Amino acid sequence: MTDTITLNDGVKIPAVGFGTFLIPADGSTYKAVREALDAGYRHIDTATAYYNEEEVGNAVRDSGIPREEIFITSKLWVSHFGYERALIGVERSLKKLGMDYMDLYLLHQPYGDVAGAWQALEEAKKAGKIRSIGVSNMTVKIWNVYVPHFATMPSVNQIECNPLAQQKEIRKIMGAGNVKVECWGPLGQGNRTLLENETIRAIGEKYGKNSAQVILRFEVQEDMITLPKSANPERIRSNLDIFDFALAEDEMNQIRALDTGKPSHDPDAPGVGEYLISHYPIND
Ligand code: NDP
Repeated sequence: MTDTITLNDGVKIPAVGFGTFLIPADGSTYKAVREALDAGYRHIDTATAYYNEEEVGNAVRDSGIPREEIFITSKLWVSHFGYERALIGVERSLKKLGMDYMDLYLLHQPYGDVAGAWQALEEAKKAGKIRSIGVSNMTVKIWNVYVPHFATMPSVNQIECNPLAQQKEIRKIMGAGNVKVECWGPLGQGNRTLLENETIRAIGEKYGKNSAQVILRFEVQEDMITLPKSANPERIRSNLDIFDFALAEDEMNQIRALDTGKPSHDPDAPGVGEYLISHYPIND
């Protein structure tokens, strides 16, 4: 079972969620989400652009766990940005999931008519179709363009974040509005430099924990929400087994010192929005 964090709108979110990016919708997502729910995860992260919302919804329903005990996040894709399109995008996600509300819905990427899309999310929240709303992949530069003009402060910004890329600048700005970080790529997307880091390995040895568990524990102790993905039943379980130990402050500092300040993905780079739209087409 996982710790819970309270968002700036009062909604409670489990600190560890199950990531589903790149798990295919060929029965694999269904299987992985069922495994995750059996293992004790109560928070699932999907997106329109993962093409697997339907399997997530089926797995949640078939688990027999009451809907209100599971926290479901999905995301609006850029092809549905702008006010009118976003209203359609919200309904599309609800229909695919087979649910009458989502716990959290994010603007997946900060390109195109972000302001119009945000307004639609605010309305959907008021209408009870979404409990909390947030953004994703916002850098300091992008945040400063949009967020000061939003009527509602986002509850989260889901960004690439792990011990090698700790996002200290944007976290400072977000902290002012009590906006929580959700870490995507919390395990460095399987990056060996991170998973084989000697400092992390040595800390894990002390607690009888593997490096992934130390990394995820670090992220949670930093008051961040973390979303490890695995399609492997053993790793699905072990990634949640991080609530029976705590890192000491000097260990937190050792891991804080591993930050390179360089995430692998740069949302500010020219052409990123165009690239994403052409690589992840959503045609309805
Ligand atoms: P992760 O950092 O979660 O890494 C996933 C990779 O690590 C997979 O290859 C997985 O392999 C491997 N792995 C998982 N557990 C372990 C372990 N214990 N030891 C060693 N390797 C392990 O990357 P993701 O990109 O999946 O990010 C997590 C989630 O964040 C996504 O699934 C998605 O929900 C979200 N996300 C959001 C984005 C956004 O733009 N908002 C962008 C990217 C991700 P295996 O499956 O074989 O275990």
